[in-house]
Amino acid sequence: MNLFRPDIARIDGYTPGEQPQESSWIKLNTNENPYPPSPAVVEAIRDASSGPLNLYPDPLVRRFCTRVGDLFGIDPDCVLPANGSDENLTIAMRSFVDAGQQVTFPYPSYTLYETLADLQGARHQRLPLRDDWQWDPRQAETLVADSKLVFVPNPNSPSGNCWSDPLLTSLVPPAGVLVVDEAYGDFRDEPLSSGLLQHERGSQIVLTRTLSKSYSLAGIRFGYALAQPELIAGMRKVKDSYNCNALSIAAATAALQDQEWMLRNVERIRATRDRLVAALRDTGFDTVDSQTNFIWASHPTGHHRRIFDQLKNRKILVRYMHFSNTSGDAARDGLRITVGTDEQVDRFVDVLRSIVVA
Ligand code: PMP
Repeated sequence: MNLFRPDIARIDGYTPGEQPQESSWIKLNTNENPYPPSPAVVEAIRDASSGPLNLYPDPLVRRFCTRVGDLFGIDPDCVLPANGSDENLTIAMRSFVDAGQQVTFPYPSYTLYETLADLQGARHQRLPLRDDWQWDPRQAETLVADSKLVFVPNPNSPSGNCWSDPLLTSLVPPAGVLVVDEAYGDFRDEPLSSGLLQHERGSQIVLTRTLSKSYSLAGIRFGYALAQPELIAGMRKVKDSYNCNALSIAAATAALQDQEWMLRNVERIRATRDRLVAALRDTGFDTVDSQTNFIWASHPTGHHRRIFDQLKNRKILVRYMHFSNTSGDAARDGLRITVGTDEQVDRFVDVLRSIVVA
């Protein structure tokens, strides 16, 4: 007897990257920041933990919204805090898509989008990315035409490339919403802006951001969405009443306040990224120009699975990814490697060289 809804029974669910609980690993598989968060975060959590934990937190998390508003020069009513960006992606799906309606996303990109569509009983279609990680604009126009929701990560994962604002806005569905997932936006060459919301189709655009990556807070679970107030007000109806807890609110608010700390870590990671790219190319890998804290690398031998296994035997975790082909693009696999500290990356490169040469 299967007690589950057919839509749930037939899917595997999303598989997150491995999180070994021992500290002996060099962990370059889930795009975490290798540096700790600002000391102000730890202090804020300590203060909050001696606060009134018997009371529910502010359901609207106004303190954080005001901070975001000050930082980006926008109205705090345009901000929706959540338990990580993943929660805001779920909220968007539940807010805008009924069972049977169409959801579209680039492929390969973040595989959670497909799972969320499955959970909602929605139909979904992939916008194929060619070998150069670009989509065909005419195909895009056709696919978004009947979509209720389009997800686009910018920069993309696993490739790390960005798309221009005009390309992104060309994906706003005529009668639906475009979610631009900016999880890695702080690592871009261009500073993050909320300019897309001022576009003539801005009332159909949602931006999602996270403190998991650039702010080193993956363990805290905090993200926020930006959109015009009408969309945010509707999405609030869908979220859990208290979707952010007192300690995470304190941590996220303090982290956002310490821009200098975040920017310094981003700069270090970008510098290490350049060294990592040079070493990968020197070892015979092809890499995509990345505007993120990870690199997509493929080797002409195609032995990605073997390289992944051998790294893992040496306690180095990267992400092996395989994407089946859809119409208009090729099946591809490769390694997605998170940029760690200089020491981690040096060790990774040493081991990788011994594997690839062997
Ligand atoms: N979007 C993308 C493209 C991601 O790679 C991730 C991290 N797995 C997320 C969103 C989710 O981030 P968060 O930790 O805030 O849920």
